[in-house]
Amino acid sequence: MDCIFCKIANGEIPSKKAYEDDQILAFYDLDPQAPVHVLLIPKMHISSANELTEENSQVVSHIFLVAAKLAKELGLENGYRIVNNCGEDGGQTVQHLHFHLLGGRSMKWPPG
Ligand code: AMP
Ligand code: ZN
Repeated sequence: MDCIFCKIANGEIPSKKAYEDDQILAFYDLDPQAPVHVLLIPKMHISSANELTEENSQVVSHIFLVAAKLAKELGLENGYRIVNNCGEDGGQTVQHLHFHLLGGRSMKWPPG
């Protein structure tokens, strides 16, 4: 399958890793939108939040637990934001489920 994040997950495309285990990978975004901008992905291909099911969604809670630990390690004691863009209107450009972990600056609300 021609999926850039599957290729990052299997090492075909290099990335700057922040965390890895058997289920998930966290790596630095190439185009950071904040001083800390890490992407957390399941290694298994799930194309978006719309493709989550009772069977495959445990990985999402795992991602959130790891994101909180990473945030602490990366110095985001003052807070952070986790974003999932889903579908065209959500601004999803890579069709492999991912969560943005953003921090190191004050975030605006509502987002643009
Ligand atoms: P989204 O717009 O939510 O689909 O986010 C996709 C994100 O992936 C964007 O923030 C891109 O900068 C990032 N991205 C795309 N290709 C790579 C790559 N090879 N390595 C790291 N980040 C990437
Ligand atoms: Zn994929």
